[in-house]
Formats: sequence, structure tokens, C-alpha cells
Amino acid sequence: MTQVLDYRLDEETEALRKVVREFAQDVIAPQIGEFYERDEFPTAIVRQMGELGLFGLPFPEEYGGSGGDYFHLCVALEELGRVDSSVAITLEAGVSLGAMPIYRFGTEEQKQEWLPRLCSGEALGAFGLTEPGGGSDAGATRTTARLEDGQWVINGSKAFITNSGTDLTALVTVTAVTGTRPDGGKEISAILVPSGTPGFTVGQRYSKVGWNASDTRELSFADCRVPEENLVGERGRGYAQFLSILDEGRIAIAALSTGLAQGCVDESVKYAAQREAFGQPIGRNQAIQFMIADMEVRASTARLAYYRAAEKMLRGEPFKREASIAKLYTSEVAMENARWATQVHGGYGFMNEFPVGRFYRDAKILEIGEGTSEVQRMLIARDLGVG
Ligand SMILES: Cc1cc2nc3c(=O)[nH]c(=O)nc-3n(C[C@H](O)[C@H](O)[C@H](O)COP(=O)(O)OP(=O)(O)OC[C@H]3O[C@@H](n4cnc5c(N)ncnc54)[C@H](O)[C@@H]3O)c2cc1C
Repeated sequence: MTQVLDYRLDEETEALRKVVREFAQDVIAPQIGEFYERDEFPTAIVRQMGELGLFGLPFPEEYGGSGGDYFHLCVALEELGRVDSSVAITLEAGVSLGAMPIYRFGTEEQKQEWLPRLCSGEALGAFGLTEPGGGSDAGATRTTARLEDGQWVINGSKAFITNSGTDLTALVTVTAVTGTRPDGGKEISAILVPSGTPGFTVGQRYSKVGWNASDTRELSFADCRVPEENLVGERGRGYAQFLSILDEGRIAIAALSTGLAQGCVDESVKYAAQREAFGQPIGRNQAIQFMIADMEVRASTARLAYYRAAEKMLRGEPFKREASIAKLYTSEVAMENARWATQVHGGYGFMNEFPVGRFYRDAKILEIGEGTSEVQRMLIARDLGVG
């Protein structure tokens, strides 16, 4: 029998998409610009996202989740990203970087202790891989953890860590060098550090170009002690575990990027109908029509790229290449659409009162975070056996 490709959302996913769309339009859109300008984390909005069940989307009900899957998370991220990237990255980092390492690699005790709070959005988790000395070269970890009297003693620092210092933040899982492998390389493990642990200092929020309503900080550890049981997953497997978390995370970032690209279309269509120049709406000019048509082409193809990667992941097939393709393509599309949406808006596109100004500032980081565009190209080429 001929198999028909079907990328329509099923009833449940479509219902979720609609709920998130309405929440983004009715609750987030009217107020997020002010948080963004004040450089303030929107705690109340994030709590409401928790009440909607967004933080538990891909987790089983036994841990407080909604029993959905990773694609549900992606669809929610696309709808949030269509309106605002700061809240979207807060959800992305909270779920796919904060809670997922515990769900994938944690012990049953760790899951029971942390996941219900993380799934409800009452608590946020963070993921500490990047260090001041290196992000792309994530294995160049300098942070150390030595085992002493049944405790890990952690020393070092982490840079650019999302969700690490909000009122809701409960933990960060960090990578640290815990010894030397038999081949002489670094043995890197993942360790869970609850917020407020003595010796764990959370720095001031960075002053950022975009994602201004999200929380990003530098973390430092000075003889910070946590129980031996806080090891997440196997000793020495921390680096490999984090890399596999990033493979999935790339699909989530691709969904967020697609949302931003689609938001550029939404705003441009509205503006082209209302702004007049030379006695007619600017949308009557073919040059503007073409800009918007090209934006829609890019947003639609971006969506296919992340759907494809998510489909392979959910089927249990290898999906690394598709995840990198989706992340690379959609982030570049987001950047391109933000550029053209700003152009459609003329001078007003450069004003903070219009969402496209935010989109423009928020798009660039999509080509950098969770693996730069160069890193994605390296991964794709490697997967093709090149080099
Ligand atoms: C707002 C924000 C939030 C973040 N949140 C988190 C988080 O929650 N947790 C976390 O662990 N990290 C986080 N990061 C870190 C992020 O993942 C890194 O910034 C990113 O991976 C790039 O690392 P880098 O900044 O050290 O750049 P570098 O690695 O120094 O790269 C600099 C440039 O060199 C290029 N480059 C490097 N190596 C190569 C190579 N071999 N070949 C070709 N080009 C190369 C890069 O592509 C880039 O263009 C966040 C960053 C930001 C800005």
C-alpha cells in the first residue's frame, strides 16, 4: 500500500497548539515588551505557563508530566516563539536542558525528588556546560569535582547559564572533571547542585543584546559540596550525556526559531495592510509582497525541517543529522526573516514598541546557542563522513 506522508497535527496536538497560541496572544503579547525593556524576568507569566502544564509536556504522568512527547514541546515552543523568544527560551531551557538530564539519566530517587516540581513550573532547572573559556569546545571543561568523605567538592565556573538565577530556580546540573580516563583524557561527569548550596554563587544577570526577559548568568563554585548521590547518570559519562541532551535540544531550538520566523510574517502582513505611503497601503507594492512571500516560504520550510527531525527522534531512528540541519536552517531563516520584517516596518521596525524590533534582537542568538552554525555544519559534514 502507498504510504502517504502526513504532517498534519493530530487532534490533541492541534488543541495544544491552539491553547498556547491563545495564551501567547492574550497573556504574553500585551505585557512582554515592558519586561524586555526593563530587563526583567517575567516570573508571573512563567508561573502561568507552569499552570498550563507546558513544563511537563514531554514527561510521563508518574513524574507530574502531561504524558506527551518531545514534539508537543516543540509545537508549544513554536507558538511561544511566534510572539516572544524570552519566554520560549525559558521553557526550552527549563524542560529540555533543566529537567531532561534528570529524566533521561537520573536515578529513580532524583526523578521522584525533582521532576514533579520541574514539571509543574514551580521550580526551574538549569544546565551548566559552557565555561568562560569555551562553549563550542565543550569538552575543554576546567570545573573540577573531587570525591571527599562521600561528597563532591566542586570548583570552577560556568558562563551564560539560562534560568540559573530566577526566583523559581531550584538547581543546576553541571559538567565537571572528576578524574582521568585510562586513555589519559578528562573524565567528565554531571553533578546536580541545588540552588543555595554553600560555595555556589550565582552572578548578576548579563546585559544582553536580546532575550532580555530571560535569565542568563555566570556561576561560580568554590569548594561547593554536594552529596555523592547527586551524580547524574554514570560517572565519566557526563560529557556524552550532555551532548545527547543537546542533540534533542536542537530540535526544540529549531521549533522556537520557526516560531520567530512565522511571527515576522504575522507582523509584516498586519503592518503592510495598515501603513500607507504614496496614498496607498505599502502592501500594494510588489516589492513588499515579495518580501513577505519570501518570509512565508522560509518559515514554512523551516517548520518542515524541525517536524522531520522530531519525527525521526520519536520513531527512535538516528536523528542527529536532521536535528543539526533543522537547527542550522531554522536559525538562519529566523535571522533572515527578522531582517526583512524590520525592513517592511521601516523606521518603526527599529522602535522597541513594535515586536519586530525584539525579533531582530532575539534572532541572532539562535545561530549561536546550543551549538553555533559552524558547529552544526561540522556535525553534518562529520555525519556524512567528510573530514
Ligand atoms: C543567551 C545565552 C544563553 C545560553 N545558555 C546556555 C545554557 O543554559 N547552558 C550552557 O551550557 N550554555 C549556554 N550558552 C552558551 C552557548 O551554548 C555558547 O555561547 C555557544 O555554544 C558558543 O560558545 P562560545 O560562546 O564559547 O563561542 P566559541 O566556542 O568561542 O566560538 C566563537 C566562534 O568560533 C567558532 N568556532 C569555534 N570552534 C570552531 C571550529 N572548530 N571550527 C569552526 N568554527 C569554530 C564558533 O562557531 C563561533 O563563531 C548560552 C549562551 C548565550 C549567549
